[in-house]
Amino acid sequence: MLTVADADQLLADHGMTLTTETVPFSKARGRVLAETILADRDFPPFDRVAMDGIAIHYDSLANGQVTYPILAIQRAGEPLQPLPDPTGCLEVMTGAMLPTGADTVIRYEDLSITDGVATLTIPTEMERGQNVHKQGTDRRTFDVLLPAGTMLRPVELAVVASVGQTSVSVLKRPRVAVIATGDELVDTHQTPLPHQIRQSNVYMLQAALYDMGLDASVHTFPDDVATITAGLSTLLTNHDVLIMTGGVSAGKADFVPEVLGGLGIRCHFHKVEQRPGRPLWFGSSPDQQRVVFALPGNPVSTTMCFYRYARPYLQTAMGLTPDPPLYVELAKQVTFKPAFTYFMPVRLEAMPDGRLLANPLPGSGSGDFTNLTAADAFLELPAASTVFPAGTLAPAWSIG
Ligand code: AMP
Ligand code: MG
Repeated sequence: MLTVADADQLLADHGMTLTTETVPFSKARGRVLAETILADRDFPPFDRVAMDGIAIHYDSLANGQVTYPILAIQRAGEPLQPLPDPTGCLEVMTGAMLPTGADTVIRYEDLSITDGVATLTIPTEMERGQNVHKQGTDRRTFDVLLPAGTMLRPVELAVVASVGQTSVSVLKRPRVAVIATGDELVDTHQTPLPHQIRQSNVYMLQAALYDMGLDASVHTFPDDVATITAGLSTLLTNHDVLIMTGGVSAGKADFVPEVLGGLGIRCHFHKVEQRPGRPLWFGSSPDQQRVVFALPGNPVSTTMCFYRYARPYLQTAMGLTPDPPLYVELAKQVTFKPAFTYFMPVRLEAMPDGRLLANPLPGSGSGDFTNLTAADAFLELPAASTVFPAGTLAPAWSIG
């Protein structure tokens, strides 16, 4: 059996790379750029008026002039006009080109205007060049605005739009299938017989993937080798990632590892020294184009294994920085005897002094998924210790 650190290493050693696609700019939110975005012109592209007011030639002010006849108006979106007389001014609006011959803008708040003449109210506080956003001071033509690998948030999309790109090259998203196996499972709309349960794991996984921008397909198979083999074999033709739940333990109906092996998916690890989630299985096709996570079916195990292993793996594959765990303080002492890493559900609590406390919610084991509704995260307590006093600092993996 492997430690949690060994499992992390094997996941890192078997990462997947995604190809690229071009998407319309309006669909690019959250995607990762696969091209470099360059400035197509200077930023700003001209000396831009930054305040509504008047544009003057500063030398006149330096010579003691305080009143300026208004000779014309330069609005945003109008072609460049000259300041015909250096002792006059043009009224200018934010976003306008600075008139040629002017170098300084005085805002309306510092002026009084009567009969077409502007008078400065605080002439001593004016500086040459004020309220002018000079051409090219932010970026120059051909400067790199966004390197490949950048995740497109709203602010990056604004930059892409401003250089006139209606579509962008981005990393493809993995096509993910979520698959439950189990003879006892019926679906939400069905009424379970006494020996059956309504399955829930696939919907937890589908929603968690949706949070990552992934639309996963959902499938359920009975514990039957032929049916699972046929089903997975089809799913492997049109999905990059399979996330399975159930059928990976040591039970008489746990056929998933055997079926995956038969389909040419190589096992990189099976069983991790952790609780819950010990039977976790991870493998990939030899060409690394298909990746399979087979999570134990107990709902708490499925949830923990998804957020602790599968989600960071997928984020990395998608070119994103995986969400790091939060380092939090245990609110009260916990004892855990087995020599396994203990992933304990916790409710986080922000303290006025800035500390984040983790309140233990041990629940009644890995089948108790109703307990998770009170939890924010799994606290990762190391295998090496048994007693974890209050104040112990440990990483907490958020569950959404
Ligand atoms: P398994 O990993 O197949 O041995 O299943 C372990 C436990 O998890 C059993 O009690 C199953 O009934 C339960 N379980 C398995 N799959 C699901 C599922 N999709 N939704 C809810 N519970 C499940
Ligand atoms: Mg089962």
